Amino acid sequence: VPTIGVLALQGDVREHRRALESCGASTESVRRPEELERVDAIVIPGGESTTMWRLARTFELLEPLRKRIEQGMPAYGSCAGMIMLADRIADGAEGQETIGGIDMLVRRNAFGRQVDSFEEDIHVTGLDTAYHAVFIRAPWVESVGGAAEVLGRAESGDAAGRIVAVRQGHLLATSFHPELTGDARIHRLFLDMVKGTQ
Ligand code: GLN
Repeated sequence: VPTIGVLALQGDVREHRRALESCGASTESVRRPEELERVDAIVIPGGESTTMWRLARTFELLEPLRKRIEQGMPAYGSCAGMIMLADRIADGAEGQETIGGIDMLVRRNAFGRQVDSFEEDIHVTGLDTAYHAVFIRAPWVESVGGAAEVLGRAESGDAAGRIVAVRQGHLLATSFHPELTGDARIHRLFLDMVKGTQ
Protein backbone atom coordinates (compact mmCIF):
# COMPACT_ATOMS: atom_id res chain seq x y z
CA VAL A 1 0.00 0.00 0.00
CA PRO A 2 1.52 3.35 -1.02
CA THR A 3 2.00 5.99 1.68
CA ILE A 4 0.71 9.42 0.74
CA GLY A 5 2.55 12.35 2.30
CA VAL A 6 0.81 15.64 2.98
CA LEU A 7 3.14 18.62 3.00
CA ALA A 8 2.61 19.99 6.51
CA LEU A 9 4.42 23.31 6.48
CA GLN A 10 1.19 25.30 6.53
CA GLY A 11 -2.41 25.05 5.38
CA ASP A 12 -5.25 22.54 5.65
CA VAL A 13 -3.19 19.41 6.24
CA ARG A 14 -5.61 17.57 8.51
CA GLU A 15 -8.51 17.83 6.05
CA HIS A 16 -6.44 16.33 3.22
CA ARG A 17 -5.24 13.47 5.43
CA ARG A 18 -8.83 12.76 6.46
CA ALA A 19 -10.07 12.77 2.85
CA LEU A 20 -7.24 10.46 1.71
CA GLU A 21 -7.79 8.10 4.64
CA SER A 22 -11.53 7.98 3.88
CA CYS A 23 -10.44 6.42 0.55
CA GLY A 24 -8.36 3.78 2.36
CA ALA A 25 -4.96 5.45 1.87
CA SER A 26 -2.30 5.57 4.53
CA THR A 27 -0.93 9.07 5.09
CA GLU A 28 1.98 10.86 6.78
CA SER A 29 2.68 14.51 7.44
CA VAL A 30 5.85 15.73 5.69
CA ARG A 31 7.81 18.54 7.30
CA ARG A 32 11.39 17.30 6.94
CA PRO A 33 13.50 15.88 4.10
CA GLU A 34 13.71 12.48 5.87
CA GLU A 35 9.93 12.32 5.99
CA LEU A 36 9.72 13.11 2.27
CA GLU A 37 12.01 10.16 1.55
CA ARG A 38 9.56 7.78 3.23
CA VAL A 39 6.46 8.65 1.16
CA ASP A 40 5.43 7.45 -2.29
CA ALA A 41 3.43 10.53 -3.29
CA ILE A 42 2.73 14.01 -1.96
CA VAL A 43 -0.30 16.25 -1.53
CA ILE A 44 0.35 19.99 -1.25
CA PRO A 45 -2.55 21.65 0.55
CA GLY A 46 -4.16 25.06 0.22
CA GLY A 47 -2.91 27.85 2.43
CA GLU A 48 -0.68 30.72 1.37
CA SER A 49 1.85 29.98 -1.35
CA THR A 50 4.29 32.74 -0.31
CA THR A 51 4.41 31.37 3.25
CA MET A 52 4.68 27.82 1.99
CA TRP A 53 7.53 28.77 -0.33
CA ARG A 54 9.45 30.51 2.48
CA LEU A 55 8.91 27.62 4.88
CA ALA A 56 9.87 25.07 2.23
CA ARG A 57 13.16 26.93 1.83
CA THR A 58 13.73 27.18 5.57
CA PHE A 59 13.00 23.49 6.10
CA GLU A 60 15.21 22.60 3.10
CA LEU A 61 12.40 20.88 1.28
CA LEU A 62 12.27 22.89 -1.95
CA GLU A 63 15.11 21.09 -3.76
CA PRO A 64 14.21 17.61 -2.44
CA LEU A 65 10.61 18.14 -3.60
CA ARG A 66 11.77 19.26 -7.04
CA LYS A 67 14.06 16.26 -7.31
CA ARG A 68 11.44 13.69 -6.26
CA ILE A 69 8.89 15.18 -8.66
CA GLU A 70 11.43 15.10 -11.50
CA GLN A 71 12.08 11.45 -10.65
CA GLY A 72 8.37 10.71 -11.06
CA MET A 73 6.82 10.96 -7.59
CA PRO A 74 3.10 11.70 -8.03
CA ALA A 75 1.96 15.02 -6.58
CA TYR A 76 -1.39 16.74 -6.15
CA GLY A 77 -1.69 20.43 -5.28
CA SER A 78 -4.88 22.28 -4.34
CA CYS A 79 -5.08 26.08 -4.44
CA ALA A 80 -1.77 27.27 -2.93
CA GLY A 81 -0.56 23.74 -3.76
CA MET A 82 -1.51 24.33 -7.40
CA ILE A 83 0.64 27.47 -7.35
CA MET A 84 3.53 25.43 -5.89
CA LEU A 85 3.32 22.94 -8.79
CA ALA A 86 3.25 25.61 -11.51
CA ASP A 87 6.32 26.21 -13.67
CA ARG A 88 5.35 29.89 -13.94
CA ILE A 89 3.32 32.25 -11.74
CA ALA A 90 1.77 35.69 -12.24
CA ASP A 91 1.18 38.11 -9.36
CA GLY A 92 3.69 36.27 -7.21
CA ALA A 93 5.41 37.97 -4.30
CA GLU A 94 8.87 39.44 -4.90
CA GLY A 95 11.22 36.53 -5.59
CA GLN A 96 8.51 33.90 -5.04
CA GLU A 97 9.63 30.47 -6.21
CA THR A 98 7.64 27.33 -6.86
CA ILE A 99 8.47 23.63 -6.90
CA GLY A 100 7.22 23.47 -10.48
CA GLY A 101 6.56 20.42 -12.62
CA ILE A 102 3.41 21.39 -14.49
CA ASP A 103 3.92 23.38 -17.67
CA MET A 104 1.43 26.14 -16.86
CA LEU A 105 1.15 29.81 -15.93
CA VAL A 106 -0.91 30.27 -12.77
CA ARG A 107 -2.27 33.63 -11.61
CA ARG A 108 -2.55 34.07 -7.85
CA ASN A 109 -5.76 35.49 -6.33
CA ALA A 110 -7.14 35.59 -9.84
CA PHE A 111 -10.87 35.59 -9.18
CA GLY A 112 -10.80 39.11 -7.78
CA ARG A 113 -9.97 40.33 -4.34
CA GLN A 114 -13.48 41.57 -3.59
CA VAL A 115 -14.87 38.07 -4.12
CA ASP A 116 -12.84 36.20 -1.52
CA SER A 117 -14.50 32.87 -2.00
CA PHE A 118 -17.31 31.24 -3.93
CA GLU A 119 -18.63 27.83 -4.84
CA GLU A 120 -19.92 26.35 -8.07
CA ASP A 121 -20.61 23.01 -9.69
CA ILE A 122 -18.12 22.24 -12.43
CA HIS A 123 -17.42 19.35 -14.75
CA VAL A 124 -14.15 17.52 -14.29
CA THR A 125 -12.82 15.07 -16.86
CA GLY A 126 -12.96 11.57 -15.38
CA LEU A 127 -15.88 12.26 -13.01
CA ASP A 128 -19.30 11.26 -14.27
CA THR A 129 -21.31 13.93 -12.45
CA ALA A 130 -20.61 17.58 -11.57
CA TYR A 131 -18.23 18.37 -8.73
CA HIS A 132 -19.08 21.01 -6.13
CA ALA A 133 -15.95 23.16 -6.15
CA VAL A 134 -15.05 25.54 -3.30
CA PHE A 135 -12.73 28.41 -4.26
CA ILE A 136 -10.97 30.49 -1.56
CA ARG A 137 -8.79 33.36 -2.82
CA ALA A 138 -8.07 30.93 -5.58
CA PRO A 139 -5.65 31.04 -8.48
CA TRP A 140 -6.64 30.18 -12.01
CA VAL A 141 -4.51 28.81 -14.81
CA GLU A 142 -3.88 31.39 -17.51
CA SER A 143 -2.34 28.98 -19.96
CA VAL A 144 -0.95 25.46 -20.21
CA GLY A 145 1.83 24.04 -22.34
CA GLY A 146 1.46 21.05 -24.62
CA ALA A 147 2.15 18.37 -22.02
CA ALA A 148 -0.56 19.54 -19.61
CA GLU A 149 -4.15 18.40 -19.95
CA VAL A 150 -7.03 20.67 -18.87
CA LEU A 151 -9.46 18.68 -16.68
CA GLY A 152 -11.88 21.42 -15.65
CA ARG A 153 -12.91 25.03 -16.11
CA ALA A 154 -14.95 27.57 -14.19
CA GLU A 155 -18.46 27.69 -15.63
CA SER A 156 -20.21 30.88 -14.57
CA GLY A 157 -19.79 34.63 -14.35
CA ASP A 158 -16.81 36.61 -15.61
CA ALA A 159 -14.48 33.72 -14.88
CA ALA A 160 -16.37 31.23 -17.07
CA GLY A 161 -13.90 29.24 -19.14
CA ARG A 162 -10.93 29.81 -16.85
CA ILE A 163 -8.91 26.65 -16.24
CA VAL A 164 -9.20 25.32 -12.67
CA ALA A 165 -8.04 21.70 -12.91
CA VAL A 166 -4.98 20.36 -14.74
CA ARG A 167 -3.09 17.12 -15.05
CA GLN A 168 0.35 16.47 -16.47
CA GLY A 169 1.36 12.82 -16.24
CA HIS A 170 1.89 12.06 -12.54
CA LEU A 171 0.98 15.60 -11.45
CA LEU A 172 -2.50 16.93 -10.64
CA ALA A 173 -3.60 20.42 -9.59
CA THR A 174 -6.90 22.11 -8.76
CA SER A 175 -7.73 25.75 -7.94
CA PHE A 176 -10.44 24.53 -5.58
CA HIS A 177 -10.44 22.71 -2.23
CA PRO A 178 -11.82 19.14 -2.46
CA GLU A 179 -10.76 18.46 1.14
CA LEU A 180 -13.54 20.76 2.41
CA THR A 181 -16.63 19.23 0.82
CA GLY A 182 -16.74 15.57 1.84
CA ASP A 183 -16.70 14.51 -1.83
CA ALA A 184 -13.52 12.46 -2.11
CA ARG A 185 -13.60 11.88 -5.87
CA ILE A 186 -10.64 14.19 -6.57
CA HIS A 187 -8.57 12.43 -3.89
CA ARG A 188 -9.62 9.07 -5.36
CA LEU A 189 -8.59 10.25 -8.83
CA PHE A 190 -5.16 11.10 -7.41
CA LEU A 191 -4.89 7.76 -5.59
CA ASP A 192 -5.71 5.99 -8.87
CA MET A 193 -2.88 7.98 -10.50
CA VAL A 194 -0.56 6.88 -7.69
CA LYS A 195 -1.55 3.23 -8.20
CA GLY A 196 -1.04 3.67 -11.93
CA THR A 197 -4.60 2.78 -12.81
CA GLN A 198 -5.46 6.23 -14.22
N1 GLN B 1 -4.19 33.04 -2.37
C1 GLN B 1 -3.40 31.97 -1.83
C2 GLN B 1 -2.00 32.00 -2.41
O1 GLN B 1 -1.66 32.84 -3.17
C3 GLN B 1 -4.02 30.62 -2.08
C4 GLN B 1 -5.31 30.51 -1.30
C5 GLN B 1 -5.63 29.12 -0.87
O2 GLN B 1 -4.82 28.20 -0.92
N2 GLN B 1 -6.83 28.95 -0.38
O3 GLN B 1 -1.21 31.16 -2.07
